[in-house]
Amino acid sequence: MIDFHSHLDLYPNGLALAREVNERNKFTLVVTTSPRAYHATSRVFTGLRNIKVALGLHPEVADSKVGELDALVGGVAGARFIGEVGLDGSSRFRKNLAVQERIFQAVLDECSTQGGRILSIHSRGAAGRVLELLATSKSAGTPVLHWFSGNGAELHTACRMGCWFSVGPSMLAGAKGRHLVSKMPRDRVLPETDGPFTMTDGVALKPWDAWRVCNVFAELWSQPLDIVEEQLKHNLRRLLGAR
Ligand code: MN
Repeated sequence: MIDFHSHLDLYPNGLALAREVNERNKFTLVVTTSPRAYHATSRVFTGLRNIKVALGLHPEVADSKVGELDALVGGVAGARFIGEVGLDGSSRFRKNLAVQERIFQAVLDECSTQGGRILSIHSRGAAGRVLELLATSKSAGTPVLHWFSGNGAELHTACRMGCWFSVGPSMLAGAKGRHLVSKMPRDRVLPETDGPFTMTDGVALKPWDAWRVCNVFAELWSQPLDIVEEQLKHNLRRLLGAR
């Protein structure tokens, strides 16, 4: 099982849960919300081979954490995965878009300087702008758009640019999400949860719950479940092999 976008460090019982996740999931990408959290989480999860920690600065906290921008840029050289980074143009965070862009651009530039990274990218309410910035930072690496919620034209642009997508059960709960996913290239999608911020029946999704997307993909792609599971595993191997 694979979860390509988890906030495993933010569950109340993070370390105990991480040990179980390390057993149950073949691969879990733990995205972080600040460079400080990245370093702390990397230390705590040391030795859990199936869990990788990504260096991030979440756009929702851009305003309060901009002081960690130097740490973010400075950390890119030593990090294989970058996330959660990106832009949030929703009504609550739109007012901080200038500082969000400064941070996102700086991390993209440094990823280019370092020869490219795999990035887990947030784009809520800002898909168009995220794609514009990615288009001018082609050597930043491989962008994986997490919980993409842009329109059809933006999705088309993202596909043409070679973006990947991580998709969770929550995104597949609605018709819009399902429709977008049906248009995504099957060889560039990966499962995610975005837990603990996503729930079913009031319980936070755990990283192994990401695998629930397989049933919906099977339906959308008219493919048997085992073919879908193979495809997703193959996608991960290809993404990781790419760098
Ligand atoms: Mn997230």
